[in-house]
Amino acid sequence: MRVGIVGAGIAGLVTAWLIDEVCTAVVVEARSRIGGNARSVTGCVDGVSATFDLGAQEIAADDSSPHSALLTAVGFGERHFADIPSSHTFWADDVSPSLVGSHPGRPAGVGHGPAWEPVKSFLDGLGEPPAWDVPFGEVVASRSLPPQAVDHVLYALIASLFGCAVPEVAGVSARAALTYLAGVASDEAMPVRILRGGMESLSWAVAGQLTRTEIRTGTAVDRIERTEGGYVLSDTAGGRCAVERLVLAVPPPTAVRLLPESMTAPGRPWHVLHRFACRPVRYALHLDPVYMPGDRSRWSTHNVVSHDGWAESSFWYGPSYGVDVFKSQITHRSVLPRQVLATSAFEALPPTADLVRAQRTLAMVQGHEGLHFAGHYTAGPGDQETAIDSAAEVARRLAPGSSRLRHLTTP
Ligand SMILES: Cc1cc2nc3c(=O)[nH]c(=O)nc-3n(C[C@H](O)[C@H](O)[C@H](O)COP(=O)(O)OP(=O)(O)OC[C@H]3O[C@@H](n4cnc5c(N)ncnc54)[C@H](O)[C@@H]3O)c2cc1C
Repeated sequence: MRVGIVGAGIAGLVTAWLIDEVCTAVVVEARSRIGGNARSVTGCVDGVSATFDLGAQEIAADDSSPHSALLTAVGFGERHFADIPSSHTFWADDVSPSLVGSHPGRPAGVGHGPAWEPVKSFLDGLGEPPAWDVPFGEVVASRSLPPQAVDHVLYALIASLFGCAVPEVAGVSARAALTYLAGVASDEAMPVRILRGGMESLSWAVAGQLTRTEIRTGTAVDRIERTEGGYVLSDTAGGRCAVERLVLAVPPPTAVRLLPESMTAPGRPWHVLHRFACRPVRYALHLDPVYMPGDRSRWSTHNVVSHDGWAESSFWYGPSYGVDVFKSQITHRSVLPRQVLATSAFEALPPTADLVRAQRTLAMVQGHEGLHFAGHYTAGPGDQETAIDSAAEVARRLAPGSSRLRHLTTP
């Protein structure tokens, strides 16, 4: 069976990897590099040679996850990972920090800030996780929390992750939000893992194991036609490619643009794709600590400032590699960094409660007319784990006999 996969982010590549021994696939990628939101840059700073991520970078330190299983299956081991503390500092413009999280080696005299106690008791006292389609605003409103704890901490982190305005976080899925907030006010910083070779190295390792799949980079699919036998993809290099099955591993607004209008019209099942709305997020990798708290003893790995109704983060690479390199969101900043090493633009998708309902509808039309959707937006909190799970879902339909599926199946 010939399968067309549009998008060589982790979802498209893992789909190809899972079906490679059974199907003949072609992966078409618009950018000149594979990896999608995993974009890594290698450089030497202060004599330290290291790889820095501009986009996706963190992996849960959980050995039983499909992400860990994939990493092992494509050859990654302990030496490829760096374990770092996921610590957080939150503040608003011109105000001393609202919350300074636990971080190894932070001097004992540095206080946790006024929002620490309310945030900690909120997160510790939640009990059973809410259903995925309960809005975070409902959960927050059911407790009496000071506005500073809500706007400058709980909402600020989620707004920064998904590029939405702070008040919009009230509509985000509480379950998704709480996944990202776990550990923000814990007595010890939670450990997370990064790949020493950068998150993009996972994409390269996956691609390196493909034998029957062709990858075409630097050419975007710009039109998809429905035919009797399947689909025909036309790309910006003038190529045309007929496939029996189609996997769209691109952001949903792109899927809407590519599919024939008749397929996404009102009343058609794929109309649901219109409900997935992305936000632009721009990142810079830089050397000047322009977005860090003035007092270095309050620096964390994640430093989130609320300003003008937005919240933006600056990730400090000090705990990872011992160098003052920062990866900062610069979408809405009034001051830009001066010592910039690289910049990159992304699209983020806030996991709103409505999006959760749209995801359920999309799940019901998976595979209809030979059309499949893979990507971090298809379920859950929208991380790499979700993208890998979505690829496995698609592969179970396209190549149920694939031996690689066993690597990713949780017993
Ligand atoms: C800035 C940022 C940071 C993140 N950090 C983390 C993190 O630390 N940990 C984590 O677990 N998750 C993180 N995520 C979420 C993470 O991106 C996703 O989980 C995952 O990388 C997305 O993979 P994907 O394959 O679904 O989509 P993408 O990575 O978006 O891949 C889609 C691909 O489709 C291509 N494409 C688009 N249009 C076309 C076209 N017309 N023709 C051909 N190709 C096309 C794109 O170029 C892209 O390569 C982050 C997301 C963002 C935006």
